[in-house]
Amino acid sequence: MLPDPLFLEEIGDLSTPRVGLAVLGRPIGHSISPILHHAALSVLSKEDASFDLWQYDRIDLEPSLLPEALEKLSLAGYIGLNLTIPHKVEVLKVLNDIDPEAQLMGAVNTLHFGSGSWVGHNTDGIGLSRAISTDLGIRFQDECILIIGAGGAARAASVQCLLEGCEFVHILNRSKERLNGLVEPLAERFGRNRIKGSSLEDLKISDFKDKKWLVINATSVGLSEEDPSSLPFSCSLLSPESAVYDMIYNPTTTTLLKDAAKAGLDFSNGLSMLIFQAAKALEIWTQKEIPADIMFDAACKHFQ
Ligand code: NDP
Repeated sequence: MLPDPLFLEEIGDLSTPRVGLAVLGRPIGHSISPILHHAALSVLSKEDASFDLWQYDRIDLEPSLLPEALEKLSLAGYIGLNLTIPHKVEVLKVLNDIDPEAQLMGAVNTLHFGSGSWVGHNTDGIGLSRAISTDLGIRFQDECILIIGAGGAARAASVQCLLEGCEFVHILNRSKERLNGLVEPLAERFGRNRIKGSSLEDLKISDFKDKKWLVINATSVGLSEEDPSSLPFSCSLLSPESAVYDMIYNPTTTTLLKDAAKAGLDFSNGLSMLIFQAAKALEIWTQKEIPADIMFDAACKHFQ
């Protein structure tokens, strides 16, 4: 069952002894994170009854209230937070302690309260890596990867691919400004021979034609069933060994994935990334190994 989203003014001290976890975002009504975390926590509770006290909420939070929220939530007994749109990048300004990978990604999706302050992490990159390895049997190492998008999710994806030793990342994005803001620092850090960017208007189809690519959609194009494919050319132009991963999981099939199926390519939607990034976050908070399959079953039951 999904609890109703809370607003910041509704957060008081936790009345019963409780360990608070929450996802902060706006909008937040679509988030199924409580279902995933409660499923895993119920398994942990069987070994250790103290996990009965852990509770995962959804909090609807306006961006300007983020600094106030972090203080209020730590005082109220929250020790773990996930961040979603629009807080992942803005939070960098208010944190003193960010792990090096999240720093490189320029985005934080997980906060852990320890030793008196919030520490920022990013589990989207590792979640994506585990998802693609599980669903498509592909490891990033030595792959040529086309990432569509240059927002928070694309940042995490591109850094993860480069850190794991992919051969090449090509980033494709609508706006040039956001594209350059992502490609330039990564080219300096990882080498210009390993990363290139194209905006939709200066895209050269010959860069992709008949070549093997792992295509990852990290845009919001596809969230509406009427949306076109996020890839501005047909998947049939790619070599048949190519594969497509769409970070979108609701709807379960996007126009991009339909096109990949038509072209005979392997493909998968983003549910597995949602599960693996959540499992990694819960691992950070509990220091326990998390049964991702339990989270996956709970998510599938919800979408049935
Ligand atoms: P951001 O808002 O940070 O980035 C959105 C991206 O989408 C930008 O690159 C933007 O391009 C592009 N975009 C938006 N509308 C259009 C359009 N009409 N045409 C072309 N490009 C467009 O979002 P996030 O990076 O946080 O999330 C991106 C997607 O990834 C979302 O669908 C989100 O649900 C999904 N996601 C899934 C996760 C999972 O666990 N499965 C985890 C995280 C995200 P521009 O720069 O030109 O505006």
